[in-house]
Amino acid sequence: MRGRFAPSPTGPLHFGSLVAAVASYVDAKSCGGEWIVRIEDVDAARTVPRAADAILRSLEMHGLAWDHRSIMVQSTRTEAYQEALERLGRLVYPCGCSRKDVGGVYPGTCRLGLRDGREARAWRVRIPEGRMIEFTDRLAGRVRERLAETCGDFIVRRADGVFAYQLAVVVDDAAQGITDVVRGADLLESTARQVYLYEALGLGEAPRYLHVPVVTDAQGEKLSKQTNAVALNDSRAGESLWKALEFLKQGPPPELRGAAPRALLEWATANWNALLI
Ligand code: GLU
Repeated sequence: MRGRFAPSPTGPLHFGSLVAAVASYVDAKSCGGEWIVRIEDVDAARTVPRAADAILRSLEMHGLAWDHRSIMVQSTRTEAYQEALERLGRLVYPCGCSRKDVGGVYPGTCRLGLRDGREARAWRVRIPEGRMIEFTDRLAGRVRERLAETCGDFIVRRADGVFAYQLAVVVDDAAQGITDVVRGADLLESTARQVYLYEALGLGEAPRYLHVPVVTDAQGEKLSKQTNAVALNDSRAGESLWKALEFLKQGPPPELRGAAPRALLEWATANWNALLI
């Protein structure tokens, strides 16, 4: 078993991302599995200089030690994504629509070729009509989704040349032999697309999925770098870890509040029960 934490380096680690990191770490370690970290900087425009280093340092300070010495960094993986795009063959096609042309489900405008005078912008992957994608989320249960109705042919390479997150994450999870994806529930709506790409790319079985609730602020917004979530204070790692375990409904004992990260993670690993989340 191998789990992963895959932060986008758009800012420092905050409490919301710590919850995802702790959940995936403890889930893997409780089964004697490996846990790795991958830096998802495929979109260079969103990458903040030095954020990746700050995230890694914070993880270390929280006792979240990853297993492989080398860390996969998406900005070095362009060839692998290009190869995947080629492997999709006739399933992908160039699309000349602008974002303004398309709202919501893509109607398939460019499926049979670009309209006159239009230039290829993005690349989309074809979803066979009526195709049902099924997967099991360990908390949400069985999910069945007809991609043609929820998103239509989706973008795998953007108009600006950047490979889409959906493609990059699947190529990398497969390349790294990830068996268990544990991440925030905001990504549950992306999962069917990823399961579809696993199949379309012939990558074998998709991983198991566990989507944990996202942490929200007082306005009910997901904590994120975009909503200016505060950076974790690395010198209070024990406090933050305890709170993360409480958020995950693991019932950390009060006497461990603020204990050393190692003690907290050992307790959590020995007592992990994902069904309590
Ligand atoms: N890089 C994504 C993020 O930071 C997470 C991707 C994933 O876990 O699949 O939101």
